[in-house]
Amino acid sequence: MADRAPTVPHLFPAEVERLLDRADALCGRRHVKLTALRRQILGLLLEAGAPLGAYDLLQRLQAVQGNAAPPTVYRTLEFLMEFGLIHKIERLSAFVPCTHTLGRAPCHDHDSECVHASQFLICRVCSGVTELEDPAIVAAIKAATKNVSFRPQHLTVEIEGVCARCAAG
Ligand SMILES: [Zn+2]
Ligand SMILES: [Zn+2]
Repeated sequence: MADRAPTVPHLFPAEVERLLDRADALCGRRHVKLTALRRQILGLLLEAGAPLGAYDLLQRLQAVQGNAAPPTVYRTLEFLMEFGLIHKIERLSAFVPCTHTLGRAPCHDHDSECVHASQFLICRVCSGVTELEDPAIVAAIKAATKNVSFRPQHLTVEIEGVCARCAAG
């Protein structure tokens, strides 16, 4: 019996693999590598379709890669955040894939190293998160902060409420 099971690649649904290929291409253009581990963690987030905390992710990772350690997960999440592939939802202490970068709702070309200012709509009932990128909101924040001579550096807005699906149900 072998000491260690061979690494079995976790195969995601085709839709997730397609987005992972796109993330891979984006990383290539920025001269960084979407390593197997980064791809795996991003894939788990895409597959979940809901915000996942670091501990949740670690458990899911360990299900396919038993020896995964917490620092590995944190480092990988930092990388994915730095390159705009995921976002942290502070209110939930959880992570979501960036819907703009990965093209489910592309609003502009993300090939450049742009840092976009998102608004996250967080449903209190199902904890679902919708990402918006409304330039009017960003312009309003910039104008309002300029009025009081405040220099904003982090323009992410988190808004709590009830999503359309939960409101209907
Ligand atoms: Zn985003
Ligand atoms: Zn909801």
